[in-house]
Amino acid sequence: MEYKILNDGNKMPMAGFGVFQIDPKETQRCVEDAISVGYRSIDTAQAYFNEDSVGAAIKTVLAGGIKREELFITTKLWIDDAGEERALKAFDASMKKLGLDYLDLYLIHQPYSDTYGAWRAMSRLKKEGRIRSIGVSNFNPGQIMDFAINNEIKPAINQIECNPFHQQLAAQVNLKELGIAMQSWAPFGEGRKDMFSNAVLKTIAQKQGRSVAQVILRWLVQRGIVVIPKSVSKDRMAENFNIFDFSLSEADMRMITGLDDGASLFFDHGDPQIVKMLNNLSR
Ligand code: NAP
Repeated sequence: MEYKILNDGNKMPMAGFGVFQIDPKETQRCVEDAISVGYRSIDTAQAYFNEDSVGAAIKTVLAGGIKREELFITTKLWIDDAGEERALKAFDASMKKLGLDYLDLYLIHQPYSDTYGAWRAMSRLKKEGRIRSIGVSNFNPGQIMDFAINNEIKPAINQIECNPFHQQLAAQVNLKELGIAMQSWAPFGEGRKDMFSNAVLKTIAQKQGRSVAQVILRWLVQRGIVVIPKSVSKDRMAENFNIFDFSLSEADMRMITGLDDGASLFFDHGDPQIVKMLNNLSR
């Protein structure tokens, strides 16, 4: 495993396991499988409604001999709870579901509502040792610049969509300038636009004797971006984890750069209708 050293000195695995859209009934099995194939970093969220199933898996693996300090657990604060007092309560509720006494990484899930109030609460929890690292998700370059300038503690991470069709090259330059790590969500774009059948990716995969999924994850890791692929299949979890024993040439990297469409495969977080839709999700 390779690690990212965050701007607060904490160390995070470059590859973790994401549990978005995994049925809560299946999540415990998936997280246990993921940990059995080698993952130690797990990415969940209040809004995924499966924190308690992640917690059940954590309890099982800790009973099985894995040490708490080997794990790196991330959860996220939803829009409803973006505010100083509400964030403190939401954090306690997430911790209860996860069965943890400290969290490795807490993220503001969306750049809406009272994110500054939420950040004050998260900063306090970090200072108290209840959270090791704090960060944000889905902040655009302007938002994260403002946030970094106007807060005492800078976010350790910005978790944003990043895949071969939406490469976020400018966002990465901005985050590098700020000393904030970049993490990719939807590394496969959830398979949209036939990503797994893309001719360029398939050519590189065949040459390397690897799968398209492994080439995508390797490309991200070589860019210094932390990945959290999701899969319900134990074989695909293992495939997605085994990306540290090969590397892509500069020519391969350049070929993938050529696939960038510069647009989200999902939606634009700055679109007013999307802002309304995401805010309405919680009310
Ligand atoms: P993703 O990882 O890009 O794609 C998951 C899809 O790819 C699933 O359909 C999965 O199917 C398939 N897949 C996985 N490995 C494969 C392989 N080796 N070969 C072929 N197909 C494969 O999508 P995601 O789940 O949206 O993103 C990953 C994680 O990022 C999430 O789980 C979540 O933790 C995080 N996320 C965060 C945000 C945010 O707003 N912060 C938004 C979205 C996601 P199977 O399950 O059947 O294998």
